[in-house]
Amino acid sequence: MAEIIDGKAIAKRVRAEVRERALGLAERQGRAPGLHVVLVGEDPASQVYVRNKERAAGKAGIEGKVHRLPEDTAEPALLALIEELNQDVTVDGILVQLPLPGSLDSARVVRAIDPAKDVDGLHPVNAGELMLDGSGLTPCTPTGCMKLIQETGCSLEGRRALVLGRSQLVGKPVAMMLLRQNATVTMAHSRTQDLDARVREADVVIAAVGRPKLVRGEWIKNGAVVIDVGINREPDGTLVGDVDFEAASERASHITPVPGGVGPMTIAMLLDNTVKAAEGRERTR
Ligand code: NAD
Repeated sequence: MAEIIDGKAIAKRVRAEVRERALGLAERQGRAPGLHVVLVGEDPASQVYVRNKERAAGKAGIEGKVHRLPEDTAEPALLALIEELNQDVTVDGILVQLPLPGSLDSARVVRAIDPAKDVDGLHPVNAGELMLDGSGLTPCTPTGCMKLIQETGCSLEGRRALVLGRSQLVGKPVAMMLLRQNATVTMAHSRTQDLDARVREADVVIAAVGRPKLVRGEWIKNGAVVIDVGINREPDGTLVGDVDFEAASERASHITPVPGGVGPMTIAMLLDNTVKAAEGRERTR
């Protein structure tokens, strides 16, 4: 039976450590690190996410502020706000909640953020740093996945890692992070053939697709580490991952549950990135 990777407990530890660093910064600078979240429109899920981020920031000794803009905000107005936040010395982290309303070009908006304040790690400069030496701010969910793997104590060195999904947000960056840890990385996506065969040979599986129980338990190699990023709602309202958790638990050595696995890590790593950004800016002053 697999050991369950307790994302909630690990995230709690990360948040406590972040809080210590945030309090240290506040003492040295006379102000808490500042995380500014920009929310455009009324999307109910985004509203919940943003509220959670603001609350979590406060608990971690970070000053969280939400800028709420109407659905019909024109791009120049949004870009002007971002520029204002870029220039504001009390702002350490800027996050634009995605997805943006269809009339706005999210790639252009993300590019407008100062890379040193880009706590979502999505700016092309930070994406590029990840390809080069990993020195920039890295996207929160993939960073959380790596922390969970690290917590298992399992080495990635020379092991076969399979990433399902190739999104900018999760799949691509996590593949690069695995490569940096010397794993032999395969990426699977919607056009991949023989997905079951790819899963069967993987020592580490990271599933970030968004299809309930796409990965069957019998595909999992004995002793594999399974990180399930997927969040899917079943018709009866329950949340399930991309992996059939019950069956996969019979074979995996370590596995994340959904909920309570990767999910809590995403906000924890956002807070970590905010403090990292603040520490980085402190060093360059
Ligand atoms: P996305 O829709 O941008 O990307 C999905 C990827 O899955 C695509 O690259 C696609 O090629 C691939 N794919 C589709 N069908 C496939 C198949 N049959 N086999 C293999 N790959 C296939 O999604 P995303 O933003 O990367 O998110 C993926 C999932 O992770 C979603 O369920 C999302 O809700 C969840 N998510 C969770 C967190 C968290 O904090 N836990 C954060 C981000 C995303």
